[in-house]
Amino acid sequence: MVKIEGQSVQKGIAIGNIFVWKKKEVSLKATKISNPEEELNAFYEAREKAIAELREMGEKAKGKVSDEDAEIFTVHQMLLQDLDFEDAVKDGILQEHLNASYATYQAGESLAEIFAAMDDNAYMMERASDFRDIAARVIRKLQNIEDKLTLPETPVILVADDLSPTETIGIDTSSVLAFVTAKGSMNSHTAILARSLGITTLVNTGVELLDEYHGKLGIVDGLSGRFFIDPEEDVLYHLQTEKEQYEEEQKALQELIGVETITRSGRKIGLYANIGNVEDAQRALRYDAEGIGLFRSEFLYLNRNDYPSEEEQFESYKQVAEMMEGKEVIIRTLDIGADKQADYFQIPKEENPAMGLRAIRICLTRPEVFKVQLRALYRASAFGKLGIMFPMITSVEEVDEILGIIEEVKKELLDKNIEIGDPDLGVMIETPAAALISDLLAEKVDFFSIGTNDLTQYTLAMDRQNASLARFQNIHHQALLRLIEMTVRNAHAKNVRVGICGELGADSDLTEYFISIGVDELSVSAPRILSLRKQIREFA
Ligand code: PEP
Ligand code: MG
Repeated sequence: MVKIEGQSVQKGIAIGNIFVWKKKEVSLKATKISNPEEELNAFYEAREKAIAELREMGEKAKGKVSDEDAEIFTVHQMLLQDLDFEDAVKDGILQEHLNASYATYQAGESLAEIFAAMDDNAYMMERASDFRDIAARVIRKLQNIEDKLTLPETPVILVADDLSPTETIGIDTSSVLAFVTAKGSMNSHTAILARSLGITTLVNTGVELLDEYHGKLGIVDGLSGRFFIDPEEDVLYHLQTEKEQYEEEQKALQELIGVETITRSGRKIGLYANIGNVEDAQRALRYDAEGIGLFRSEFLYLNRNDYPSEEEQFESYKQVAEMMEGKEVIIRTLDIGADKQADYFQIPKEENPAMGLRAIRICLTRPEVFKVQLRALYRASAFGKLGIMFPMITSVEEVDEILGIIEEVKKELLDKNIEIGDPDLGVMIETPAAALISDLLAEKVDFFSIGTNDLTQYTLAMDRQNASLARFQNIHHQALLRLIEMTVRNAHAKNVRVGICGELGADSDLTEYFISIGVDELSVSAPRILSLRKQIREFA
């Protein structure tokens, strides 16, 4: 038996035969060429084939994954046509007289390195793997290497060195019990896709792709992050039992659909979902969310070349409001900046973007951008029960300024006879400053939503993206809990309701405590809703 540890990206236990996927090696020898024009034409031809392949894969992916996830195919087509990429290949061929494959490889690497160096920005760092992925696709076309994966009919545990996002979506998932990759990270696109496909996945296992593993029995334990090859009898027996238990528990939770989230003494707690797009709202409904506690609207602004129009935003907000059929939908105005960058915002390079021009600071600096979103939100508020909240608030003055802009937007819409609703307004409490002046902020708004992800980062002065701080990051730090308690007390003194929408809201070790201090609502990722409901119903 071989036991390997990795990072679990998607929970579950899978037992089945192992399929080792060794991708065919491409040749990466740099040779001096005498016919640059021909090589350049070969590159253009290969690039066209790669684009056509991506287009076809994108079509196939539709319906299988969310539109947002299927976007990756469009993004890769755009990157293939990126002028910096093309120029770098051209320089390699025409100036350095390199063969097309090597020039493409070199161009992909140099762009990947530029993005990988942006280590203060996880989103940009991910673009590095995208450039490697597109370069590899062109090289395979140049060398006529078909890398189609044909899986057996009986589903297998797919073991690979790494999987690119396009490969992950391209795989026929009905033939896959689990993914295990040697490389990969928790927040990569691939990991996010595996989660949205709901396939048990371990990444960063360092597994070797040995022929002898192929066809052997394997167990992927996504609960504890372990991968067993050729397991011993007792391990197999134990994990088989655990698998059945886990699946039973998941099934049993379904019985809580439609059941009230109420403590034994009759206190009602709102269990809401966090979403990033319209498809997520569908999933939230499947898990019986009682509302949407955080719609991260900035996702509408990412992965594109220009601002989303008022109309486009209006349609998305309206769609979610209508889908939720009268349940509350709290939309957060855009939280661009820090780890979520969009080039077209052209935010000047900052030394310290997490403390820089982000979120409401951008909106107040660029009211014309803010107003487009507010118009879309107010128009959509006529179609459901909308709430609007503002991220990264630090002062009463900011809130006053926001309220002033809202009055202008409402007047403009009413002057044009456009119907609007009357959404509740709230602020996120995600800076220590906001928590400390929550008594003053409570006079201005209808609700608070505590963003524990940023509140932790700013209270402890520890970058939330920095994995090497893990041992210092006490997520239950007294300082944080005191700020939360203070916020709830100040809010309730002014009849303002309080929810928690950061990751801590789903931390079952804190649920009883949150309820005991009076938190009114928890907003969590949809798959966590039913197990939290079960827990809350057991509290006194
Ligand atoms: C938070 O900071 O807790 C939060 C919910 O916002 P985000 O994670 O999007 O920054
Ligand atoms: Mg935040």
